[in-house]
Amino acid sequence: MEIITKHAEQTYEMPEKLTPHNVFYYSHYTKEVTGSVKTKARNFLDKGLVEWDAATKQFYVNPVEGYNTRRYSISNRNGGFECNCQGCQTKIKNGKYNPSTDDIPACSHILAVLMFLQIEEHNDLNKQGDKTW
Ligand SMILES: [Zn+2]
Repeated sequence: MEIITKHAEQTYEMPEKLTPHNVFYYSHYTKEVTGSVKTKARNFLDKGLVEWDAATKQFYVNPVEGYNTRRYSISNRNGGFECNCQGCQTKIKNGKYNPSTDDIPACSHILAVLMFLQIEEHNDLNKQGDKTW
């Protein structure tokens, strides 16, 4: 007879306020990305480097002071996100990432934007803003 062991599904209660530190546990996007990508994405959010530009309809991740000087742009592509960093562009070129179908972020910049959106949406649930992303 085969013994089937089933692990209890763990459920978590959503915290009242999401932050760059607790959002990891509530986002399906973050489940399959590696630790260093998460650490980088959290760092961007902690430092307030993620911004939305309504004029260009793009997200930007501004440079980390003393670490890099490039500002990366993250654009919506058919419901997904594409970043202009080398990591993301290489994955697209090699067929390893398709912004419109892949759920798992290709780079830390896209992950930071997804986390940013999740935090904003969760914490602003009762506010009626004019956010257009
Ligand atoms: Zn990127």
